[in-house]
Amino acid sequence: MVKMVNRTKKLLLKTAAVIIENKEYLTELDAAIGDGDHGINLARGFKKLKEKLEKENFEGRDELFKLTAMTLISNVGGASGPLYGTAFLNISKVISDNKLDLDDLVEIAEESIAGIQKRGKAEAGEKTMLDTIIPAAESLKHSRANKVDLETALNNCLEKAAEGMKSTIEMQATKGRASYLGERSIGHQDPGATSSYLMIKTFIKSYLN
Ligand code: ADP
Ligand code: MG
Repeated sequence: MVKMVNRTKKLLLKTAAVIIENKEYLTELDAAIGDGDHGINLARGFKKLKEKLEKENFEGRDELFKLTAMTLISNVGGASGPLYGTAFLNISKVISDNKLDLDDLVEIAEESIAGIQKRGKAEAGEKTMLDTIIPAAESLKHSRANKVDLETALNNCLEKAAEGMKSTIEMQATKGRASYLGERSIGHQDPGATSSYLMIKTFIKSYLN
């Protein structure tokens, strides 16, 4: 399934480009409630990933996601490096080289959440990346239960991810560096919720393309 591997490689290169383009925006968001390095951290990791993707050949999607995981874990740093790294590592364990259906997408979303929660022990509502990813996963599950077609399911998922990201503005952070601010963390959009929205948006747009 060379075609799928190449499509996924392109998707990861596009994700890297989107994160690198948004480096300053993500860093500004983190400057408001953290230490102002989220964009810098992620852009460093994704730049490294881009270099590796361009140099190597891959047999399967699992290899691509494993490389992404390892590269983010060793190059991003901060809280988000190991969290995203573990999410991608879990994806590498379940992803096949077949065309993905809604069941596969639900599994991928659930595995990502499981990885992030294993490492970071956060729940929904704590003003983190999970406040984007959990509603996105719930939306996919809802679509599956209601036998919604894949295209509609993905569009709904993207909408829920955006709502989830924006919902972090009103939240008080109780995990991560932003929690040190207590109530002063309210009124700012979470940087990790924003970077995960950008990733989900890139995945969905490329899937629908
Ligand atoms: P650091 O906070 O170490 O500087 P980053 O700036 O790279 O790391 O990432 C900050 C983001 O990480 C936050 O905006 C939040 O979304 C996410 N985050 C922090 N702690 C957790 C956690 N325990 N679970 C899930 N996400 C978390
Ligand atoms: Mg930071």
